[in-house]
Amino acid sequence: MSTIIYPSPIFGPVHSRRLGISLGINLLPADGKVCTFNCIYCECGLNEDHRPSLPLPTREQVAERLEAKLREMVAEGQLPDVLTFAGNGEPTCHPHFAEIIGDTIRLRDQYCPQAKVSVLSNSTMIHRQAVHDALMQVDNNILKLDTVDPIYINKVDCPTGAYDVKAIIERMKAFNGHVIIQTMFMRGLNYDNTGEAYVGPWLEAVKDIKPQQVMIYTIDRETPTQGLLKATHEQLDRIRDRVIAGGIPCTASY
Ligand code: SF4
Repeated sequence: MSTIIYPSPIFGPVHSRRLGISLGINLLPADGKVCTFNCIYCECGLNEDHRPSLPLPTREQVAERLEAKLREMVAEGQLPDVLTFAGNGEPTCHPHFAEIIGDTIRLRDQYCPQAKVSVLSNSTMIHRQAVHDALMQVDNNILKLDTVDPIYINKVDCPTGAYDVKAIIERMKAFNGHVIIQTMFMRGLNYDNTGEAYVGPWLEAVKDIKPQQVMIYTIDRETPTQGLLKATHEQLDRIRDRVIAGGIPCTASY
């Protein structure tokens, strides 16, 4: 089974049709995964199979390596379109996440002012004021909400600590629209959030959060848990169209 553990603290750039040239910033160790979820579909694999031995990169290391890479890209005339916080787990777990966002915005303004700063987060740390405030500073605050059903969350996202989806939704509302909701839809013998029992309540929560955008997607790579299936084009299109009908822009990735 192939999983991806990314270099740290900088990886790429990756060329993507959707994002353009994306430079990755990975605030987790280079030899394993650290996450407050343990999603059964995680492309990095399950937490227990990828315990790191290396420490988290320091704030100083992230800034130094990012600046060096941006200088290199400027010299090559290939500026990034987006600086993306992603990688081996949950970026907001880093104790200096807020300061690192400040450093990144400063370096972005200096070297590639047209580039967007994006953060992909599982939302578990947004109750921390410093994390909330930092996410308000980035261009794309992309937060995971796979379902509002606590049983499904425990089966699929597998939080490693206490997780109260109602409290998470309240914290998402506190971004006052400066938030993009990202949701994984998939099927399988024991896992399926594509039916009305899941989509209906999720849609109500999304409308309550009033995000600037919703991004829905499905499994794209091999997963650590067997038996998971992609949601179909038709299912994703139907869900996307319902979000759009509710007045919220929505994209589907197949
Ligand atoms: S939140 Fe993201 S990094 Fe963490 S386990 Fe889930 S898919 Fe993997």
